[in-house]
This record gives sequence, C-alpha cells and structure tokens, in this order.
Amino acid sequence: MKFSAAVLLFINLFTLQAAPAADPETLIFTNVNIVDTRSGNLERNMTVVIKNGQIDGIAKVGLIQESRKIRVVNANGKFLIPGLWDMHVHSAGGSAPAWDEKIIYPLYIANGVTGVRDMGGDPALLEKRREHIERGQVLGPHMVLGGPFLAGGKSDSQTIAVNNPAEGRQAVVTLKNRGVDFIKILSNITRPTYMAIAEEARKLKIRFVGHVPDTVSVEEASAAGQRSIEHLTGILLACSSREAELRQQRLDALAKKDFKSYSENEMQAVSTYNSVKAHHLFVELTDNNTWQVPTLVWDSADAHIGDPDPPDELKYVPASVRKQWDPAKLLSATTPEEMAAKKELASRYIELAGAMHHADVPFMAGSDGPDPFVVPGFSLHEELELLVQAGFSNAEALQTATFSPALFLAKLDHYGVIEKGREADMVLLDGNPLEEIGNTQKIVAVIVRGKYYPRGELDKILSGIEEAAAKE
Ligand SMILES: [Zn+2]
Repeated sequence: MKFSAAVLLFINLFTLQAAPAADPETLIFTNVNIVDTRSGNLERNMTVVIKNGQIDGIAKVGLIQESRKIRVVNANGKFLIPGLWDMHVHSAGGSAPAWDEKIIYPLYIANGVTGVRDMGGDPALLEKRREHIERGQVLGPHMVLGGPFLAGGKSDSQTIAVNNPAEGRQAVVTLKNRGVDFIKILSNITRPTYMAIAEEARKLKIRFVGHVPDTVSVEEASAAGQRSIEHLTGILLACSSREAELRQQRLDALAKKDFKSYSENEMQAVSTYNSVKAHHLFVELTDNNTWQVPTLVWDSADAHIGDPDPPDELKYVPASVRKQWDPAKLLSATTPEEMAAKKELASRYIELAGAMHHADVPFMAGSDGPDPFVVPGFSLHEELELLVQAGFSNAEALQTATFSPALFLAKLDHYGVIEKGREADMVLLDGNPLEEIGNTQKIVAVIVRGKYYPRGELDKILSGIEEAAAKE
C-alpha cells in the first residue's frame, strides 16, 4: 500500500528523463492529513502521489523535487477525503432541459461530489450526458444510472409503465439489455408486479432499488432482495402497531387520489410507532443487508419552503427553475397545518434514521436533488449534517458518502477510500471533518480523475455556472 521515500525519489528521477509536457504528469500532495474512511482515523502528515488519474502511492514522508513533469502541492496540514458520492440524484429528470449539463454536473464537482447514482430520468439523455462527461467534454462526476422509473400508469420518456407482472418482467429484460446499472421502482406498483420484477431481477442478476410500494411491506421487500430503500418509504408504516389497518387506509386514499388522507396516514404511523416491532424490522434489514438512502435533506427542504432567507446557492439554479420554485406557487394549496405536519414528519424521519443506524442498518447519503430548494452538490453536505443530527458520528456520516457507496456498488477497488490504485477522486478540506462534519464544505481543492482544481478554479467554475443559470 505505502512505499518509501526512496521509491518516491526513484519516480522523480525516472519521470525527469521523460519528454516535457504542458500538464505535469504527476501530482504530489505533501504534508496532508488523510481521512481513512474505513476506520475513521486520521493519518497525519502524509504524501500522496497521483499519476494517470489514479492514486499511485501513499507514503509517510517524501523528498520530492518539483519538475516540469511533477507538480508538488504542499497541503500545509489540510485534510484529504475521498471524492463524495450522492447516491440519489435526478440529473436528467423533471426539469432536465433547463438544467443544462454544463450547469448541473460542474455543480457537483465544485462541491466535491465526484460520483452520483442517478435514480431516474430519460435514459437516452442520461447515457448521452454520461458519455460527454467520460469523454471530457463536460466536467462532471462518475455516474451510475438506472435510466427510467418503473411505475404504474403510463409510459413516457422517463418512465416505463408496469401495470402487470408480464410488463414488469419485460421492463427488467429491456433495461438489462440496455445496460443500465440497476432497476429503479416507484411506489404505485401492484404486489404481483413487484414480485415479478424482483424475481426477474434476481434471475438476470441485476439489482433493483427504489421506493417500497404501498402494496408491499418493508419486510417483504427486504426479503425479496430490494437492495436499497429510498426516502425511508414504508418504514414508519412497518413500525406501526396498526400496520395492516393503516396500509388499507393508505391504499384506499391512493385509489381515491386523496393525498391529504395519504399524508395524514404517515402521521398516524408516527403516533402508533412500536419500538419492539421496529427493532425486529431493523434486525431483519441489517441481516438482509438492505441499505437505506433516507434523503433527509429533501424532507427538510420541503418542510421549510417559504421560510425567510432563501439559501445563497439558489443563484446556481437556472432562472426558469427558480421561477418554478417560487414558494407562493409551491404552497398555494398547502395549509399552515399541513406545513406544520411536514416539519413534524421531517424531524421524525431524522429520529427514525438515528434509531435504524443504532441497530446497524446500513445507510448511504443521497439528496434527491434537484427538487425545490435541494440544490445539486450543496445539498449532499446538508444531508451529512442531518445524519450527524440523527446520531451518526462525523466519521460515520462521512462514510455514507464515501466508503459505503463504494461498498454498495462493489467498487471499493475504485472509489471510497484513499489508497493506492484507486481513482484519484479526492477533496482537500480546510478543516477536519472527523471533528466537525460541516468542514466538508470548506473545500480548498477538488481532484477528479486525477485532475486538480484548486479553490481559484472552483470559484471560476461556480461563477460560470451562475452566469449560465441566469440565462437558462
Ligand atoms: Zn428520487
């Protein structure tokens, strides 16, 4: 894993003989504190060598001489973490046309988010955008994607309608052949269709993730092999002592399109929370390795629409989208009581995430942006703060966006840790995130695919986005 100063010196001499190039081939950080996202420990005063887009070596000390081929950055005791992953985004979703790829993807990078799991959108657009990023035409994160949602109802550019088991199976086959990374399901799927999707996914060895439909219990979804549950869907219901009765009411409300009763139903689940039932459920989720992506920041943003002092980062949101996010418009049909219920529910979800984490249920950080007031990039840092509020240690919160996504994606040999042979995706911070999770926002530099973006570059990227967003 680590090599000595002598080896570093050898690299230095070796590369000095190579032909000169415009961009230095090797980037070396000295005097840097590496955050070990496996153990939660800090390795102080290290040297990190980056070459060919990869972490080439890590050493305790090194005698390094700068040359045309070697750029040495003295990190002066700053803190290096692996590039962050946002495990729930919609980067080509609802308002995609306004979110130009040159706005949304650089916004992730400027915030140290070097990987995203796209949870639903137009597959052709997503594949095109991913290709642009990989070819270097657009600055953006690594992307794993599911393509369209599987949902009841009608098909459109972002959705494949699955209204019976045969359609469910066919959708899995079609998407597997298309080469998506996983299958994403939404809430309004019938029970037989859900089970058919689960079975077909198992057969074709492709993962399925998403909401837990109201027709299926969380225990059943976990047992059926759903790999991640988004937004804690179905969890409160599954923890209720009146689960069966509330589920029936919920399905009735849905059939009548009575969304008011539907959200009241979730509050009733809160008031009938049974901690013994909850404990049994959490043990099962842990045993089945069913991951949670609670997207607490989405609930928090939704509960605080219309609060005074809108966040500064709204300036990076396309102007036309900002118009859609007008609180007066968004809240035109929402009563003050409903708003209070949303706030109550948002804090209950934070408590629920804490209780589940306490029982060792595995978690990943996701934002569900861009949605009203969930700004890509920025919102992931807010999610980490909410996870700490829920009871995660700073190290555990950081893991949900680094080590854990890499583990979940079976890509620990590429991402999630700062170790030799990994992709050179890292974020240099001006504060220790193990002491204060808010320090993930004190970004001094971002390294993605081995390319170095110091603060000055990041600020230029951000002002470019601001300018473009004003015109969109
Ligand atoms: Zn979503």
